Amino acid sequence: MKKRKCQGCKELKDADSMYKITKEYKSNDIYFNPNSKILGRSAYVCKNNNCIKLMLKKKTLKNALKINDSSKIECILLNIIKGQ
Ligand SMILES: [Zn+2]
Repeated sequence: MKKRKCQGCKELKDADSMYKITKEYKSNDIYFNPNSKILGRSAYVCKNNNCIKLMLKKKTLKNALKINDSSKIECILLNIIKGQ
């Protein structure tokens, strides 16, 4: 199993059990990337509200993906939290 660091709790977890968020290497657009079909710099977060909230609060996604504006993907993540 591939282990990846969660951008919320910072623990190493199985990559298959996490959300993979990728900055596409040409367009620099941000995508959810469950099948790893999109190439680019990626960050991972556990599929639970606490880790998503922590990631958004600490703004670690911006650093992990080296982006200035993560507002679009943050909106999607906030909707995921509300939907659970
Ligand atoms: Zn986590």
